[in-house]
Amino acid sequence: MGEIINVTVWNEFRHEKIHEEVAKVYPDGIHNAIGNFLKKQPGLEIRTATLDEPEHGLTQEVLDNTDVLIWWGHMAHNEVKDEIVDRVYNRVLNGMGLIVLHSGHLSKIFRKLMGTGCNLKWREAGERERIWVVEPGHPIADGLGEYFEIPHTEMYGERFDIPRPDELVFISWFKGGEVFRSGCCFYRGKGKIFYFRPGHETFPIYYQSEVQRVIYNAVKWTAPVKGPEGHFGNVKPLEDI
Ligand code: ZN
Repeated sequence: MGEIINVTVWNEFRHEKIHEEVAKVYPDGIHNAIGNFLKKQPGLEIRTATLDEPEHGLTQEVLDNTDVLIWWGHMAHNEVKDEIVDRVYNRVLNGMGLIVLHSGHLSKIFRKLMGTGCNLKWREAGERERIWVVEPGHPIADGLGEYFEIPHTEMYGERFDIPRPDELVFISWFKGGEVFRSGCCFYRGKGKIFYFRPGHETFPIYYQSEVQRVIYNAVKWTAPVKGPEGHFGNVKPLEDI
């Protein structure tokens, strides 16, 4: 404890430049909206990176100095270079935490880490979402009530084509009747991944206190721990056989 967690908030940052209704909600971009509330939390060092920066802002040096990477993308998943995806993938296997938000479910990096299509149902009707905490002892649920609500959101519905999560923290219910696994934890190599559903670009969801609390909790949960190094290959026995 007491050590600083280095967080990089990555955003595609295209909707905000192209769509006026999105720019109204996130004038400085979704990455800065997320970065700004995380900066108010203790023990975190925040930087941001975006798609149109050289190497998408994710140089090897940046990634080597990132404990937790937060990923928001939607309209330009295919513009993310495969070599950068591989770089992020290898960092996750080596222990970097990854938080994938909302439409990041179809990002190259999430699909590569999951190994499935990661598609889902959706509807943009501004309906209500009730997010139930189904694993109240999980660190990502810290400080939350039994459920919280997002008054206006885009619906995501099952089936969500992911492998069975290692831990499931949230299940959403939507006014239109669908349900969705909204908070999913995965272990890949030494890395931890958290998928969190809320966050459509035209709704002010990242300003909501419960959503911010979940992201902060997830940063702490996905942050690397000082576990033992894995040793592989042929070994001598520890005891006489
Ligand atoms: Zn969306």
